[in-house]
Amino acid sequence: MGYAEFDLSVPVGSGPDELLAAIRRAVNTDTFTFEILLKSLDARKKSRIVWTYRVGVRSPALRGPVPTAAPGLEHGQLGRGRRIVVVGTGPAGLFSALYLARSGFKVTVLERGGRVEARKEAIDAFEAGGAFSAANNYCFGEGGAGTFSDGKLSSRTKGINAERNYVYDAFISAGAPDEIRYMTHPHLGSDLLFGMTARLRGLLLEAGCELVYDTRFLSLAEYGSGTVRYIHTDAGDLDAHAFVLAVGHSAYETHRSLISSGVPYRVKNFALGFRAEHAQEIINHAQWGVPALPGVKAAEYRLTAQAGQTGVYTFCMCPGGTVVQASAYGDASVVNGKSDYARDGLYANAAVVAGVDLARLTGRDMRAEDALDWLEDLERRFKDTSGWKVPAMTVRDFLNGRSGSPLEKTSYAHGLAPADLAELLPAGLVAPLREGLSSFCSKLRGFDTGTIMGLESKTSAPIQAERDAGTLCSGYDNLYLAGEGSGWSGGIVSSAADGLRVAQAICGRS
Ligand SMILES: Cc1cc2nc3c(=O)[nH]c(=O)nc-3n(C[C@H](O)[C@H](O)[C@H](O)COP(=O)(O)OP(=O)(O)OC[C@H]3O[C@@H](n4cnc5c(N)ncnc54)[C@H](O)[C@@H]3O)c2cc1C
Repeated sequence: MGYAEFDLSVPVGSGPDELLAAIRRAVNTDTFTFEILLKSLDARKKSRIVWTYRVGVRSPALRGPVPTAAPGLEHGQLGRGRRIVVVGTGPAGLFSALYLARSGFKVTVLERGGRVEARKEAIDAFEAGGAFSAANNYCFGEGGAGTFSDGKLSSRTKGINAERNYVYDAFISAGAPDEIRYMTHPHLGSDLLFGMTARLRGLLLEAGCELVYDTRFLSLAEYGSGTVRYIHTDAGDLDAHAFVLAVGHSAYETHRSLISSGVPYRVKNFALGFRAEHAQEIINHAQWGVPALPGVKAAEYRLTAQAGQTGVYTFCMCPGGTVVQASAYGDASVVNGKSDYARDGLYANAAVVAGVDLARLTGRDMRAEDALDWLEDLERRFKDTSGWKVPAMTVRDFLNGRSGSPLEKTSYAHGLAPADLAELLPAGLVAPLREGLSSFCSKLRGFDTGTIMGLESKTSAPIQAERDAGTLCSGYDNLYLAGEGSGWSGGIVSSAADGLRVAQAICGRS
């Protein structure tokens, strides 16, 4: 039996038979098995849009050596029943807890929100005009920030193949489609993620984790000796051999508490801007030349521009999605996007953000706590005092330095409040965002028909915990900050991978 990889393309709309026929032609035999290694849509030539595949084929007709499977992450039984407290059930906390429990630690997982079912009820009620829940919203609650999202799994973090495979194995066992292994832009959608989160909970319980909901980490305790002895939570104190804090980057008060206990953080660059929304059909037309393609969900885009020293780019695009209110707090407003697996909604939305170097933008050196204050003030500035409408204007008005043109319909449930975003955004970001947006309008036909709404502030954390390069500890010998809140990852997959890296570091020291 030999092996070879082939790059093949088949027209959109064709079925599995066409791919089989293309492989048959490539190997020149009927005797083969194959595996899809990569699949992506190639729409560069609008007259011939194709699915491109890389396939690994095994056949007696081939000569190449059959590849061996890449090594996965191993678990030793190193924990010897010692307790680890993991705070947060987002991707970083979840995968850290899973790996540690499978490695023989007794893991207690704390989550400030409720189980995903209770969380969904709270979010649905909020979307229907009910009260905002401080514990169960788009940022907080079981599953973490990406649970009600587009569930994009792309990550540009290098060197995380083994961790990614570990995460994908768990996701697939929890109900994700197999295609996440080979699609170039894999995604799950909120509907799949909801069921998967409950099943991932099952994996944690099977591994022996104790899950404690509706319980908030408050502060570190007895850390004078360089080791954290226990932590305060709003349900009492907990001691442990080590503590993994994977609280995400919206838990501002938690980061402030850690800073006041001497955990070293620095300010890092991040990005800010607004979310642009368009009719999905306009994006489909721009990308494909037609309003729809058979067997293809909805067109995506990713745009970049350089405005002087500032990079401007689109981020977290949600084809066929909705814009959601993703503030973690009732007195602030932050937009983000989500979609279902089918991506079949009427609208497309994406963040349009400019890179932020806070010292350059504000003209003053900031400590980590100042950066949090600054960002929180900005998020509050966007909160409509009378409700949850978000400040919005047309793309054209923003480009032309005016406001007040009538707004298009939106997917955002709470409605739009006409406003001049140029007056709400930090002054130093307006010109780069304008230049970037103008460039995007010239690159993607119809982009100027969109609506922009703010604030978009969740691309990545504005602060980063300092980590010992060997142990990955932050400040204390048994304290590990993992995931997006630590500033060492961004997005679902890289945060899960960071949780796994921290778990492996703990095992490596045991
Ligand atoms: C609406 C939305 C859409 C997104 N879409 C995507 C996407 O399509 N693809 C992608 O890759 N990324 C997306 N992201 C970003 C992604 O969700 C995050 O990068 C990722 O979830 C970070 O994982 P994490 O585990 O580090 O933190 P989080 O997921 O933020 O999890 C932190 C957890 O800690 C809990 N917590 C916080 N403070 C405390 C405390 N004091 N005590 C106890 N528990 C606490 C929170 O309730 C939460 O469950 C999206 C984010 C949002 C908000």
